Amino acid sequence: MTDHRSDFRQGRLTFWASVFVAVACMAIVALSGWREWSSRLTVLQNSETDMANLARSLTQHADDTFELTDTVLNVLVGQLELEGTGPAAIAKIQTLLSRRKAANRIRAVFVYDETGRWLATSEPVDFVGLNNSDRDYFQHHRAVADRGTLIGHPVKSRSGGQWIITASRRFNHPDGSFAGVALTTIDVDYFLKFYRGFDVGQNGSIALASANGVILARSPDNGYTGRDLSSAPLFKNLRERPAAGVYYFTSPLDSVRRLSFYQLSSRYPVLMVATESEDDVLAPWRRAALTRITAVLGLTGGLAVAGLLLVHQLHQRQKMAAALVAKEADFRLLAEASGDMVMRIGVDGRILYASPSSARVLGWAPNQLVDTSALAGVNPADLARVEHTISALKNGEAEEARIAYRTRHREEGEIWIETALRITRSPQSGDINGVVAISRDVTEHKDLEEKLAALAISDGLTALANRRHFDERMETEWDRARREGAPLSLLLMDVDHFKGFNDQYGHQAGDACLRSIARILVEQARRPADVAARYGGEEFALLLPNTDAEGCEQVGERIRRAIQELGILHALNPPSRQVTVSIGGATHVPPTDKADCTSLIAAADKALYTAKESGRNRIVMSGQVVAWPGSIRA
Ligand code: GH3
Ligand code: MG
Ligand code: MG
Repeated sequence: MTDHRSDFRQGRLTFWASVFVAVACMAIVALSGWREWSSRLTVLQNSETDMANLARSLTQHADDTFELTDTVLNVLVGQLELEGTGPAAIAKIQTLLSRRKAANRIRAVFVYDETGRWLATSEPVDFVGLNNSDRDYFQHHRAVADRGTLIGHPVKSRSGGQWIITASRRFNHPDGSFAGVALTTIDVDYFLKFYRGFDVGQNGSIALASANGVILARSPDNGYTGRDLSSAPLFKNLRERPAAGVYYFTSPLDSVRRLSFYQLSSRYPVLMVATESEDDVLAPWRRAALTRITAVLGLTGGLAVAGLLLVHQLHQRQKMAAALVAKEADFRLLAEASGDMVMRIGVDGRILYASPSSARVLGWAPNQLVDTSALAGVNPADLARVEHTISALKNGEAEEARIAYRTRHREEGEIWIETALRITRSPQSGDINGVVAISRDVTEHKDLEEKLAALAISDGLTALANRRHFDERMETEWDRARREGAPLSLLLMDVDHFKGFNDQYGHQAGDACLRSIARILVEQARRPADVAARYGGEEFALLLPNTDAEGCEQVGERIRRAIQELGILHALNPPSRQVTVSIGGATHVPPTDKADCTSLIAAADKALYTAKESGRNRIVMSGQVVAWPGSIRA
């Protein structure tokens, strides 16, 4: 449950960290995109401003040019109406016009009568017979009474062959009827030359058009002069549009997307359009933006990769930390669920951790043990051994050790503890930083061991030393006596007519009798070094170190008497008819170095035999007297 929850939490953290990285990267890209977009808009706005300024000033220029033609026409019409078209008046005008030099702006001046016949011109041509009644402007003036200046569509000049723009006025007879047309022309080239002086980029253009959509002049020209664009969107609904404005369009002439500013003249029905190709305007921005965006994308990509790597690392770390926590929990569970007591002991010998089973093993709760000395309570007799083992571990002499010792249980007194010790090392430095001790109560085990040990050396019926133990002690005492030159005595005793006792009273009574005799032996063997043993069947032995023949005989006699005084009835043992024993005693003073303990046993056995032979219920000491090396006994 906890694992799932923490997994979920970790997953969520990694998820949000990834989202953060993604959002941060997207924000950087979006911000720089937004910045680039606004700088694009600024570039376009600047271009719009440029185009607006250009269109305004060129409109002014066109207005000035048309105003000049207006003035000329005004004067001419005034004079024609005042003086008429009689030959004298015309000759005067012709003289005036001939004298005029072709100027930059107004190319030529013409006067036609009401039939379209040429009356006068500034051009040096022979115009007799020429008639312009077919021209649009002539037909317009003849049909319409309006006396304003008409700016006509570009036409190819009849006199010069070049493209010209016409500006014409009607003049009347005194009665108000149509009398003819006065006309001035402007070379389209005049505008073109002027317009070429402005840089509108490779695909930009400057165009002067009539308000109804016919191109009057366009730079670059490209043969567009006179082209009718009245169906283009700009002209189609020009009436609804404001007098000036920004206008984006794809040119019907060359299919280039253009940014333009148009300006309608307030004085003449003409329109100025200054355009730049959007591509030309945006090209420098595009190049710079591409570089910047590439850099930003590269940087953001790097950031994203670095961020995601960090998130990955974070995820790995979290997983490791979770695994560590789980592992720790597992180990703690093991330590806490174990019946053994687990302790961690610092190098100063203080307990850093104790598992809950300390309450059972030592009677102290873990919190009562933590920060106390690990050796408190150890039996002083075992303390040195335990300290020695621990210091050997701390010195690095061994990695682990096992030791059994006595210590105090809070309520149960002294107990036996068996402890497995193992050193721990700092994961960083590798130095020994403490010891882990796993202890268990082995008191019962120890008791059992002691009992087993006792059983191994004692006789089951009488609890005296058994034959094997007697033999061992015999060897030891023999060697000691030899070393020390001390006497060593042995009593061998055999119950008299015991077979008969069994027959008479039963085997169980026989066993009880043997136990009673054993008690007497224990009572009489008073020195700590004395060894009373069941030698076999109903035979007993008493080894008496440091006891001479006299003492041995005294002890034997005391035993014989004490057994008889038990007064156990034994009908088949005449004459006393009580349980009695016969005893053979020997004290060893070996004749040569070659002698061993068997000679002492043999001597005692022989004496016992003599005691039996000579009537039973008596002690016979071996007559053999042998001197220990270096000492004499008579
Ligand atoms: P004696 O020694 O006086 O010559 O006669 P005895 O009857 O004692 O002769 P012996 O030593 O040959 O007999 C030993 C008898 O002791 C045989 C057996 O019935 C008895 N005996 C030996 N061990 C035990 C024992 O552990 N319990 C009992 N109840 N009887 C035993
Ligand atoms: Mg016997
Ligand atoms: Mg016997």
